Amino acid sequence: MAKHQFQTEVGQLLHLMTHSLYSHKEIFIRELVSNASDAIDKLNYLRLTQEKLKDDKWTGTINIKIDEKDSSITIADNGIGMDEAELISSIGTIAKSGTKSFVEAMSGDAKKDSNLIGQFGVGFYSVFMVASKVDVISKKAGQKKAYKWSSDGSGEFDITSCTKDSEGTVVYIKLKDEEKSDYTSKYKVQEVVKKYSNHIAYPIYLNYQEEVTQELSEKEKKANETKDEKDKIKPTTKLKQKREQINEAKALWTQPKAKLKKQEYQDFYKTLSHDSDEPMAYVHTKAEGVNNYTTLFYIPKKAPMDMYRVDYKPGVKLYVKRVFITDDEKELLPTYLRFVKGVIDSDDLPLNVSRELLQENKIMVNIKQSSIKKVLNEIKKLSKKDDIYKEFISQYNRPLKEGAYQDYTNKDMIVELIRYKSTNDDKILTSLEDYKSRANTDQKAIYYLIGDSENMLRNSPLLESYTKNKIEVLILDDKEIDEVVTPSLGSYKEWELKDISAVDAPETKKDEKKQEKTKKEFEPLTKKIKDILGDEVKEVQITDRLDSSPSCVVKDPNDPMAQMAGMMKAMGQEVPVSPPILQINPNHKILKSLNESKDKKLIEDISHLLLDQAKLSEGLDIKDTVSYINRINSMLSRVIDK
Ligand code: ADP
Repeated sequence: MAKHQFQTEVGQLLHLMTHSLYSHKEIFIRELVSNASDAIDKLNYLRLTQEKLKDDKWTGTINIKIDEKDSSITIADNGIGMDEAELISSIGTIAKSGTKSFVEAMSGDAKKDSNLIGQFGVGFYSVFMVASKVDVISKKAGQKKAYKWSSDGSGEFDITSCTKDSEGTVVYIKLKDEEKSDYTSKYKVQEVVKKYSNHIAYPIYLNYQEEVTQELSEKEKKANETKDEKDKIKPTTKLKQKREQINEAKALWTQPKAKLKKQEYQDFYKTLSHDSDEPMAYVHTKAEGVNNYTTLFYIPKKAPMDMYRVDYKPGVKLYVKRVFITDDEKELLPTYLRFVKGVIDSDDLPLNVSRELLQENKIMVNIKQSSIKKVLNEIKKLSKKDDIYKEFISQYNRPLKEGAYQDYTNKDMIVELIRYKSTNDDKILTSLEDYKSRANTDQKAIYYLIGDSENMLRNSPLLESYTKNKIEVLILDDKEIDEVVTPSLGSYKEWELKDISAVDAPETKKDEKKQEKTKKEFEPLTKKIKDILGDEVKEVQITDRLDSSPSCVVKDPNDPMAQMAGMMKAMGQEVPVSPPILQINPNHKILKSLNESKDKKLIEDISHLLLDQAKLSEGLDIKDTVSYINRINSMLSRVIDK
């Protein structure tokens, strides 16, 4: 016997399972049945594609056995099985990425909902919510030896070799006293399986014992006629082993749409996604013609937990003629649609289609393209329903932005679906279409401003002239992605998208003569400020875009580096720093006074402050916080000394 230590994070997960999770304990059945079904999927595929494993008589089945006397429930499959190394790595020593995330999500003040466990890819461990001890007895297909993994869910587990007739896995669960009545009850187990696993494609049998009463024989009945009540022979009871199929066991997507009810689609979604919520939407398509295939896609109400992890688990499973091929192929849909769950079942792909070839396979490329269209169309339908779409956008606006950047073919359609914050309304998000329809007749561009904080953006000095001229500006506060995607969009229906931190204020009726005059008047000051700030600014200009603010900083519209900074950052490249242009407001009291001042120290301090506060108010970092504070203090002292 070999003892093994659970990996630290697995240990933490188990501790959580046994000590803090009390809701939805029943989902351990869903998780183990789902593992059993996956194991059968894998063997099913090998039986069809590998000569030495061929077996026409084999059919995948899952058996659940409840035993009241023994306080146990057993879930067995005749799937692929695990060898010794796999038992050790899959359940115990190698923590999957989901382990840590799940522990984090369930710790602290978060709602402790074990129901989420399946989404983190660590469902097996949920068994320890109900088990005092678990044995996993497994024999890998094509091998002779079988192994038993045992643990009580505390620090360690044992592996021993054992015997087992056929391949597959048996999970024997000794129930905690307080769980015994629930999970040895035929009705409870039946109910749970129906609820979560009705559409697992293989039959699930429930094996249970039932008390049957042995009828009295004619002779005994006769004898009873003459006996006193207390002496009568009583019928005996016997325990009889029974077996009953408790799920529907049909691949739901193969059934005709007209026959399927919404409830069935929803139930299947739960089986597929390990989500306890209903999906936000689904779309089921059977394509017949050049290619024959079926797709069933779901959009979850809440974005999958791992949507922003590099090692996210793809949500779409590939089948070929009802045979499961893979659930680990990220290319079935483009990455921006990674939140979509579902199945693709093709009649035309070869069963042994290789991973490498899958991405270039013509049939697959076709299926993928039309799948994207289907999903986008479904999202478009959602966009017509305000309430639901608000929910959708709260979860998936960002992946849509990724799509507008990645998917050139469908860019136009995706752009229509994205929603933006805007100066038009601080609660309702807008589409570009709506922005356009609200704009002034002489406006020919869509203006936007990018930054980290919505509050900062909404109060940015850069907005002042736009607000004054009643020109709407989009507020893009998802900086990381907005600064990559938005410039790449270029234009929307012939309207150029313009970053207002780079362009000058929109054309308004200007008094050219007056401007020329102001410019002259302020020329010496702008020069002085530039000399003081040196390389920190590219240029100092006077501007009429400002109203209440004395200064702002903008990017040089002719500096390609400044425009591409976001994109380069996203590609992991070093971004050269290009200094901003400092614009000053000649109508502001500070600048008017400064223009008349001869106090060198004052001009120097204020020049720096004009730059620093412009940066701060636009959410940019300033070079030297200490000097900034010193200058403010020096100003304050002056005022007080006066
Ligand atoms: P997930 O199923 O999401 O990968 P689990 O924690 O439920 O996470 O299972 C861990 C791994 O253990 C599985 O990926 C699989 O490789 C293996 N496994 C679990 N149950 C079985 C089973 N019944 N038959 C074969 N392998 C299994």
